[in-house]
Amino acid sequence: MTTTGPAFCALAPLRFICDEMLRGVGGWLRVAGYDTLLPAQGEADATLLARARQEDRWLITRDRKLMEHAGATAYVVLLESDTLQGNLLELTLRMDIDWLSRAFSRCKRCNNVLLESAEPSPRHGVPPDIIKQRISLLFCPACDQFFWHGSHADRMQRRLAELNRKR
Ligand SMILES: [Zn+2]
Repeated sequence: MTTTGPAFCALAPLRFICDEMLRGVGGWLRVAGYDTLLPAQGEADATLLARARQEDRWLITRDRKLMEHAGATAYVVLLESDTLQGNLLELTLRMDIDWLSRAFSRCKRCNNVLLESAEPSPRHGVPPDIIKQRISLLFCPACDQFFWHGSHADRMQRRLAELNRKR
């Protein structure tokens, strides 16, 4: 069997770092539960590459010149499409991303793992009717945010399911 890039352990979930052009892609990877860093704007290529290597992450980019760095093929994923949907499909096919099995387990804002609900309060922006209906909530301890499964999450879930069908 031949592979491009290094063999990775199937049991270790893939981890990513997205360059600044691909923040949308990074957001979707977080929604799917993947540990994904979105570095600050203007971060130097060398810094991104070093971080990817040190933290055992795939660096996702559309910047062809990143591939010129020594050993880049081992941890850089170069995407070709210039649309978000195109990029998500490329990742699905090339990295076998599972968009569903850990969906909504990670904070889209800060990448922290979400916890089962603590006590919701309107102070956190949780609408009273959500609290009243006892809809289950997830809490991000890092950015003090509550999340709940509303119509927005339903639409996201449908998109994730659509992507998974392409695997
Ligand atoms: Zn958070």
